[in-house]
Amino acid sequence: MSSLPPRTPALASRLPKVGTTIFTVMSSLAAEHGAVNLGQGFPDFDCDPALVQAVTQAMQAGLNQYPPMPGALALRQAMAAKMQALYGLACDPNTDITVTAGATQAILTAILAVVQPGDEVIVLEPCYDSYVPNIELAGGVAVRVALTPGTFRPDFDRIAEAITPRTRAIIINSPHNPSGMVWSEADMLRLQELLAPTDVLLISDEVYEHMVFDGQAHQSAARFPGLAARAFIVSSFGKTYHVTGWKVGTVVAPASLTAEFRKVHQFNVFTVNTPVQHALASYMGNPAPYLELAAFYQRKRDLFRDGLAATRFRLLPGEGTYFQCVDISALAVPERDLPESDFCQWLTKEIGVAAIPLSAFYGDGFDQRVVRFCFAKKDDTLREALARLARL
Ligand code: PMP
Ligand code: GLN
Repeated sequence: MSSLPPRTPALASRLPKVGTTIFTVMSSLAAEHGAVNLGQGFPDFDCDPALVQAVTQAMQAGLNQYPPMPGALALRQAMAAKMQALYGLACDPNTDITVTAGATQAILTAILAVVQPGDEVIVLEPCYDSYVPNIELAGGVAVRVALTPGTFRPDFDRIAEAITPRTRAIIINSPHNPSGMVWSEADMLRLQELLAPTDVLLISDEVYEHMVFDGQAHQSAARFPGLAARAFIVSSFGKTYHVTGWKVGTVVAPASLTAEFRKVHQFNVFTVNTPVQHALASYMGNPAPYLELAAFYQRKRDLFRDGLAATRFRLLPGEGTYFQCVDISALAVPERDLPESDFCQWLTKEIGVAAIPLSAFYGDGFDQRVVRFCFAKKDDTLREALARLARL
């Protein structure tokens, strides 16, 4: 036996610049200070009891062992039917759809499947915080392109400039977290045109697909053949059915891309929670819950925006998602001049409302005096937050 004492070897971090995510940090701070948590994006109300019932029934029916590696066939079939009905995309549940442990795993797995060391992947900032670390874990290089300041619309000249022979993929996200901006049909057509002569793949993060307001339609990459042919289209049941903790999503991609995706998926998670998949499959038989989601959240958006309009927070547009961004620069308190992240800490501790600084969605911490609130909350929760915010 060795006489050396036990020792944990030191290691060089794979993600040296990464700490704990802002969402976790702000939720902990909100809990610690009893603040209304409008930071991390999740509902404070329950899902449909029928969905819980369906999981129970699936468990009682003995659906408790591994499902097929790509996911329960019933759920893949239900997704295929939805893609056809909503977006006109014909996809084969056997070869084009994989069930994942939420969108987070879907995006990481897609990146690991296609990005070789040194490949460039374009991200449009501000962007969801997992994208860049995912690219770096794959040995890729994240190429950050800013969305247009103020409007968060895509700037196609800048995107075009960023495409090089090394570009392997571009990640887009509409409806957009954190800004709530929604890509138009014209935007998607521009992207389709831009990518057509290239071998650039598309990772289209569409987790807020059913939260598009004011009569606009969600412009899924699935609607555009030139995009669908090169895309991993990522969805998440967590957002759609108020079950963010269930962590189940899907990836739709052409067969050749799905084959590579599944090679990684099978050694990443192998497969995903069986009874939940069966419950989701039967629940999807009725399209009403997802078709009615936009109206459900539009009413909450309006309640929240109307309340904020009476404060000194300046509202940014909110076309989709369950997020509302506000400019803090006209507030009557001196803390308005703090960096966004310090302002959010102060807001949580002293005013009792948690928010997310937009700077958390930029690699260089760009600070534009804007913070994000989540309005996926009971009306009473929103009213309580508004009462507190009105003091500023
Ligand atoms: N992408 C975006 C833009 C998101 O806002 C979220 C929500 N956290 C995810 C991906 C991850 O979704 P999931 O919880 O299904 O992993
Ligand atoms: N997507 C959610 C948000 O943007 C949070 C998910 C997470 O905590 N990672 O708030």
